[in-house]
Amino acid sequence: AKQAGRNRFCFFEQSMNQRVHEHLLVLQGIDQALAEHQLFLEYQPVFDLQRDVISGAEALVRWRHPRQGLVSPASFIPIVEESDRIEALTLWVLTQACRDLRDRILPRAPGFKLSLNVSGVALQSDSLRDRVLETLSREGVSPASLRLEITETTMMRDIEKSAETLKLWQQAGLRILIDDFGTGYSSLSYLTSLPIDGLKIDRSFISQLQQSSQGPVVDAILALSRTLGIETIAEGIETQEQLQLLRQMRASHGQGYLLGRPMPVSQLRTLLEHPQPL
Ligand code: C2E
Ligand code: CA
Ligand code: CA
Ligand code: CA
Repeated sequence: AKQAGRNRFCFFEQSMNQRVHEHLLVLQGIDQALAEHQLFLEYQPVFDLQRDVISGAEALVRWRHPRQGLVSPASFIPIVEESDRIEALTLWVLTQACRDLRDRILPRAPGFKLSLNVSGVALQSDSLRDRVLETLSREGVSPASLRLEITETTMMRDIEKSAETLKLWQQAGLRILIDDFGTGYSSLSYLTSLPIDGLKIDRSFISQLQQSSQGPVVDAILALSRTLGIETIAEGIETQEQLQLLRQMRASHGQGYLLGRPMPVSQLRTLLEHPQPL
């Protein structure tokens, strides 16, 4: 028993060490990543499901770490979010996305809408609130071309502060989408208290669409959005059946591996020039 207890302790200690180690690697590396071009963006197309055309894309950040290789944003973003570096990262993504949009995307597709992920933690920062708008005017990109995706969970940390920032951005012409809609705790209450232009229906609902129980939920979210006059994007569409069901439910927009994986901007440009039938 003593032996087992000791092993468990060692295991615990080791995993704690690993986690601390991972945190340190990220926090020590992120400044260098920003300075030395280790970060880059990929774009996942968003489709207008009624007209069968690409209407926009979501920018997703990637980190090519010199020793760890490609690091997933799902593992490093939550760590950066706990530090003040999230602001620098958010502005880097915004600047890079604006330049790709202005120089490489909008000339081919004038009505294109680019979505960016903004951490709710960053919403709490006064300086970020202003610097987002400053960046847009400096880069010469109209706010109307951009959508900001914000997850409900991170926004709830200080709902009043979040609402203030979002209202300012919305007044400037940016559109605000709730990301991973349906996975948080009080999804419905803030639909009326926050300035929201659209919902992204979380992948967990779409992946279970065929298994009857989630069908009515997705249907209800779509009906709610129509009533509120906001747009919806169904995330994580992987199969033809899911796509067909969403079409039957009159979903307006969709995104997922079936329609297109995250890709470099050059590939997105090719896709815009030579659209593939769905
Ligand atoms: P998210 O915003 O929910 O992004 C969607 C994630 O689902 C992306 O993973 C995307 O590659 C993946 N995905 C898209 N279609 C499918 C599908 O059909 N099936 C499956 N299984 N997955 C699909 P990724 O790129 O690893 O990003 C993970 C998360 O990291 C994002 O979740 C977002 O929360 C965060 N993130 C990514 N880029 C940024 C960024 O620039 N800033 C911030 N703050 N967060 C970011
Ligand atoms: Ca997102
Ligand atoms: Ca999402
Ligand atoms: Ca997510």
